[in-house]
Amino acid sequence: MKIQTFFYLFLFVALGITSCNLPAGENENSVTTNSMVNTSTNETTKEPKDTVMKEIPKPIEKPVTKDQAMTDIGYLMGKFEPSKHKQFSKVKAMHGNGRTMYLRTEAYNAFEKMFDAAKKDGVVLQIISATRPFHHQKSIWEAKWTGGRLVGGKNLSKAIPEPAARALEILKFSSMPGTSRHHWGTDLDLNSLENSYFEKGKGLKIYEWLSAHAKDYGFCQPYSPKGEERPHGYEEEKWHWTYMPVSQKLTADFAAQIQNESIKGFKGCESAPLIDVVQKYVLGINKSCK
Ligand SMILES: [Zn+2]
Repeated sequence: MKIQTFFYLFLFVALGITSCNLPAGENENSVTTNSMVNTSTNETTKEPKDTVMKEIPKPIEKPVTKDQAMTDIGYLMGKFEPSKHKQFSKVKAMHGNGRTMYLRTEAYNAFEKMFDAAKKDGVVLQIISATRPFHHQKSIWEAKWTGGRLVGGKNLSKAIPEPAARALEILKFSSMPGTSRHHWGTDLDLNSLENSYFEKGKGLKIYEWLSAHAKDYGFCQPYSPKGEERPHGYEEEKWHWTYMPVSQKLTADFAAQIQNESIKGFKGCESAPLIDVVQKYVLGINKSCK
């Protein structure tokens, strides 16, 4: 009698421990898997699956927040239309250069505040490039890859037949489709695409103002001078600024979810793993912007 009581007590405790050991996430996964299996292999495995279904609580449907939606891989690689995206705003004429441009609304709101503050100090900031989708970057890249557009006066498809070397040459001026921070709507180019513009006169005043104040509005220069601190990636770009409160998360999401092999869908994409484009270019940024 005593042995039987002990056995049932042991069985009860053991069952309790088994179910408690399953983390919440695993419970949800097993329910999803079981219900999916049930629909396809209903007849042969019905009995044991039904037993499991009764014991496991129904999954809680968690609402997808806006931030979670932003971690979508298609978004990170620029595969969406900014003009139709709810979280993007059109750049006003007074902030741009006449072209139709879009930015993530949070980034644009912060830019507007920075623009006003700069103006009070006699500095006029002008957005010359903002969100650039995958298809836009693809057309630039492929034109250079195939020789349709010359790079430094050369048809690269003939001058540099080897894929890794050809990609590195194009990357001196253009980013690879799927890897540009301009896909995210958090990054913008200001006033000029030449470092020399920011080294004297009006341009120097703009750069000095940005260096001193941009951080107060959440902006950071990701392509700082190359050196010990930043050994890989693009050369310095004094015109390119990123809105950190949003882009820090997107940078981390990119690192966590996208590998070199995921970078594809254009001519020359076989070069992405050869040059380690994710580590060296996407993540080869100023540490203070990470
Ligand atoms: Zn840029």
